[in-house]
This record gives sequence, structure tokens and C-alpha cells, in this order.
Amino acid sequence: MTDKYAVIGNPIGHTKSPMIHGSFAKDTGQDIDYVAIEGSLEHFADDVHAFRKAGGLGMNVTAPFKLQAFALATERLERAELAGATNALKFEGDRIIADNFDGVGLTNDIQRNLGFALKGARMLVLGAGGAVRGALLPFLAQQPELLVLANRTESKASDLATQLGAHGRVHSCSYGDLARERFDIVINGTSASLKAELPPVPAVALRNAKLAYELAYGKGLTPFLRLAHNAGVPKLADGVGMLVEQAAEAFVWWRGVRPDTRAVIDRMTIPLV
Ligand code: NDP
Repeated sequence: MTDKYAVIGNPIGHTKSPMIHGSFAKDTGQDIDYVAIEGSLEHFADDVHAFRKAGGLGMNVTAPFKLQAFALATERLERAELAGATNALKFEGDRIIADNFDGVGLTNDIQRNLGFALKGARMLVLGAGGAVRGALLPFLAQQPELLVLANRTESKASDLATQLGAHGRVHSCSYGDLARERFDIVINGTSASLKAELPPVPAVALRNAKLAYELAYGKGLTPFLRLAHNAGVPKLADGVGMLVEQAAEAFVWWRGVRPDTRAVIDRMTIPLV
């Protein structure tokens, strides 16, 4: 019997997840049906329960439902707990299990696909929203020399740094203070690029960086990537690899089989410069 999975979001027309999971299933010989569901803004839980009752085994969750899915879960794994959000659910009888693969997907993309080690790196992360919260534990597990968080609402970054202090060398600072530091890897985890805006990061903070990574994908050379390019950063990347790698982690969690991500990433990649 064909096993059922889905991605739920609103809007959902833009989603690449059915294509990605369809490719994984074909390549690994898994018999699955993966569909996109436009979730109701008022009745998200009803949509999830209806899918479960129809035999659904798992769901990816995208905006704006990551917090509601977290609240709905009966069990939450550590990465989801820290993020306070989930991007993947697994259904087992009455159990709704929540995990968050955004961070591990990003870490895998940076290390395995792009070839930049996080161990010993000086990292700057812009933003303190859901995607960044999901990424911080996987980053710290790689033992960077330093992880600095900067966010428009500074208290969110400083709260996160305090919360994570036991896991590694992490601190927060204001955008204005970034000019005094040097970084190897700079990650734009804000949503500014979705509105073609630039977070107020000074160009000088990018002067020694080897990699500038934009979490948004499919936007080409965003204002942040343009700033990095003009500052001479030799490698630019957007979040397409993260998207495919987080999907691969969910696929392994659901199916017990690891798909190859390279061909899917290559197919989806748009040249940035
Ligand atoms: P959230 O809404 O949770 O957080 C948004 C963050 O961006 C906040 O820290 C906010 O600051 C900051 N921000 C928004 N606008 C600006 C601006 N103009 N200048 C400076 N800071 C700004 O979003 P997510 O964490 O869910 O998403 C962040 C990005 O990551 C998006 O671009 C999203 O598309 C991308 N993403 C990519 C994924 C992938 O697989 N590649 C997966 C998930 C997300 P403040 O706290 O002050 O409001």
C-alpha cells in the first residue's frame, strides 16, 4: 500500500517539497504519495487530524504553522524544543512526534555540500527567528570557535545567547557593534530578503568572510548577498541546499533510507552571480 505524506502551509502553491520527496522516493524505490495541503489559518489542528485519520504517516510543516504544529505534538525532540517550532511531524497511532530539521539541514549543506568546516570557525548569524533558533544547537554541536548573534530586536538575540551558553561560546551584539569583529562565515537568517531588504549589517563585518549564506532561496542575488559580493566574499550560497537537506533528514526519519541530495540540489540551483 502506498504510504501518505504531505507538506502543510498557507500559502502553499510555491512549495518544492512534493518534487523533492518525489525524487527521493523514486531514487530510493520507496512507495509513497506526497502532497501539498493548504492548511486553514483557523483550523490547522483539524487539517492535521484529518490527514492522520486518512492514513497519513508524516507531514512537513511550513509557514505559518511551525509554532502551532509544535503545540499540537504529543512528543517533541530536543531540536524542536529549543526552536519552539517544528518543521516535521511523524504520526504513530495516537502519537504526534515533532522534530526540527532546518538546522541540521543547514549544517549539512554548509559542511558536506559547500565544504566549509564549522569546527573552529568564527560565525556570525543575523536574525533570531524560528529558522535561526532551529540552527543554533546543530551549529554549536560542531564546536565553532565563536558564534555571534545579531538581531534587529536585540533582546531576542541576547535571550537566545543566554539560553545556549551551556552549549558553547555564543554571544549577542548589536548590528552597530559588528564592525569590530572578524568572521569566517556570515549567515543571513533574517527574513529581510523576502522583501528585498538588507539587514543593517556593516559591510566591514564581511571583510574576512569566506562564505556568505542566505537562508532564503530562489531570490537570486539578494541585498545581503550583493553586499557580501561587493565586500569580496569568495563564496555565496542561498538556502536551496538547506531546503533539500532538511527534506532528506525528514525522509530518513520517516522511511529509514537516506536519499542522495546532490542531483536534486543541482536541479534546483540558480546561479547567484
Ligand atoms: P521569522 O519570521 O521567524 O524571523 C524573522 C527574523 O528576521 C527576525 O529575527 C526578524 O527580526 C528579522 N528581520 C525581518 N525583517 C528584517 C529586516 N528588514 N532587517 C533586519 N532583520 C529583519 O522567520 P524565519 O526564521 O522562519 O525565516 C527566516 C528566513 O529563513 C526567511 O528568509 C525564510 O525564507 C528562510 N528559511 C529558509 C529555509 C530553507 O530551507 N532554506 C527554511 C526556513 C526558513 P525581529 O526579531 O527584530 O523581528
